[in-house]
Amino acid sequence: MEVKTSLLDNMIGVGDMVLLEPLSEDSFIANLKNRFEHNEIYTYIGSVVISMNPYRSLPIFTPEKVEEYRNRNFYELSPHIYALADEAYRSLRDQDKDQCILITGESGAGKTEASKLVMSYVAAVCGKGQEVNKVKEQLLQSNPVLEAFGNAKTVRNDNSSRFGKYMDIEFDFKGDPLGGVISNYLLEKSRVVKQPRGERNFHVFYQLLSGASDDTLKKLKLDRDFSKYNYLSLDSAAVNGLDDAANFRTVRNAMQIVGFMEDEVQSVLELVAAVLKLGNIEFKPDSRSNGGDESRIKDKNDLKEMCELLGIEQSVLERAFSYRTVEAKLEKVSTTLNVAQAYYARDALAKNLYSRLFSWLVTRINESIKVSNVKNIFCFILDNSFEQFIINYCNEKLQQIFIELTLREEQEEYIREGIEWTNIEYFNNAIICDLIENHQNGILAMLDEECLRPGTVTDETFLDKLNTICAEHQHFESRLSKNSKFLTDHSLPHSCFRIQHYAGKVLYRVEGFVDKNNDLLYRDLSQAMYKATQSLIKQLFPEGNPAKVNLKRPPTAGSQFKASVGTLMRNLQTKNPNYIRCIKPNDKKASHIFTESLVCHQVRYLGLMENVRVRRAGYAFRQAYEPCLERYKMLCKRTWPHWRGPLFFLEERRRQCLQDLATLIQKIYRGWKCRTQFLLLKKSQIVV
Ligand code: ATP
Ligand code: MG
Repeated sequence: MEVKTSLLDNMIGVGDMVLLEPLSEDSFIANLKNRFEHNEIYTYIGSVVISMNPYRSLPIFTPEKVEEYRNRNFYELSPHIYALADEAYRSLRDQDKDQCILITGESGAGKTEASKLVMSYVAAVCGKGQEVNKVKEQLLQSNPVLEAFGNAKTVRNDNSSRFGKYMDIEFDFKGDPLGGVISNYLLEKSRVVKQPRGERNFHVFYQLLSGASDDTLKKLKLDRDFSKYNYLSLDSAAVNGLDDAANFRTVRNAMQIVGFMEDEVQSVLELVAAVLKLGNIEFKPDSRSNGGDESRIKDKNDLKEMCELLGIEQSVLERAFSYRTVEAKLEKVSTTLNVAQAYYARDALAKNLYSRLFSWLVTRINESIKVSNVKNIFCFILDNSFEQFIINYCNEKLQQIFIELTLREEQEEYIREGIEWTNIEYFNNAIICDLIENHQNGILAMLDEECLRPGTVTDETFLDKLNTICAEHQHFESRLSKNSKFLTDHSLPHSCFRIQHYAGKVLYRVEGFVDKNNDLLYRDLSQAMYKATQSLIKQLFPEGNPAKVNLKRPPTAGSQFKASVGTLMRNLQTKNPNYIRCIKPNDKKASHIFTESLVCHQVRYLGLMENVRVRRAGYAFRQAYEPCLERYKMLCKRTWPHWRGPLFFLEERRRQCLQDLATLIQKIYRGWKCRTQFLLLKKSQIVV
């Protein structure tokens, strides 16, 4: 059928890619571009929302817009993230269906902003009243707190989330929020001690130094000058458009709203200050030692101040930086630390201090916002950033869910319903997930095995093992095996391996893999922390308690992450998914620039073309019988006005009614837009 697009459509492109004619990758990108240039940053693929990052504030998130989208059907108005939020919220409230909102896209594409927009929309449309408002405020204000401690400026994004977050919001039967639970996934703690060129440490350090009063800084024994601290990179301290001092006030205020007591805030700041002090402790070889394998602290002033802040005896910490005690069955053996080992111990302590503080913050926020009787759950997920390998693994899993639900299940449903269907090919990334997570010979399992093996284990031995095992399999198995995603070729730089992810090939340097997975903190240091008089720090190092000396080795970082990703995926699969696919228009963080090649790359790896093809070949809209009748009953004699008569409940009669109604609707829609047809499914759905 010929497509007639209105003049308006021609100007701002097509709102739903399903209706785009002709469909090709070029026309898809051209449509996105056209819309982007007309400030239309949202476009649908059926019920999936594509969101282009505008990199500037647009006047489309006003209270008037909220009112406009409130209680309206998805396709009634032009595409907007509010339409998705409204749909999800109403299905939750009226149909009792748990919802989850999956937001994916690369760093800087706008995931965090999108999640905040959804949250603020829901907060605006749900109930009012003192109690409800308090819950809403607390939920919203958890964002600035977590962003201060968990976000940082990177080359790709000035406010990049360096942790994974998943938030459940619980509602009562009226649709009022009762509270929530936040889960956080491994924070990128290596950033605390070292940042890549052009990037910063976590925001909170700069916020504290710029925004705290002179009095507070004096109490914390801090200097306002960033350059005084080893852990703060020099070249990128000021970020355009980021007001650290103002943000510090916002964070303090948010902590208060969320329910932190004044003394808790004080302890948190003391810990942040302690990390900065820790970074300034430097070591030199001990001239008294004969083999050069002992070290001494260069200047003890920072050590002294750090100990004063946390209430630790200086000699205790000094000793913990000089010796490492290994406890075997019956004896304790202490060995001295050389300069490199002392630096390693210092950095391990800083990373542990900060990441445990972060987890404590999440737990503390949860205490404030939790509810006892869980009713419906509305959840958000953002993709995360940990060490690159782990982030990419998580993204693979999220992509897998998308594939499962929008591509595989969708196609299977047509086949199940007996609808004629030509299969649409898509890339299933299950083999990549398996390459990483398989419990026998997946990369994470091999890494764990290396970490637990006695003897000299290094990153190199891990890489050797990886190469041997993967190459062996590759030799025997077919090209389609998971190992074909583990790329070995002679062009690989030394100490690297390469994986073909769904989003492209990624090169990994093995340096630090074993260490990061082991996440080792010498017991001498946790015991020193446990001896602190400051109660928060004591709480953060429970394994330092001498009574718990026999605590078992904690699981490795990789296996912890794998377990949490597993739980998350199972959880997501029980909910009705809503997708927001974020795209960044350029890599300059600039408004008004649309770099086609960059957008094209994202469109490809997000699988958006396959998504449209499946949607187009199938039916863009589907509804169960009852709500369909409810909506269109007045159109047809048979269903209006006496549509609820007893006869209606007879299967045969019901079928006839629907058939009539379908024919009628079809007539109305004919000639208006292409690809509209009704079809009765065998089961309980009607699809358009
Ligand atoms: P990461 O994976 O690094 O955390 P992200 O996908 O969460 O990245 P955001 O932090 O949400 O990215 O967005 C990056 C920046 O883009 C924001 O700080 C903001 O400046 C801009 N931005 C994103 N979405 C919008 C929007 N809807 N309106 C205006 N600016 C936006
Ligand atoms: Mg983010």
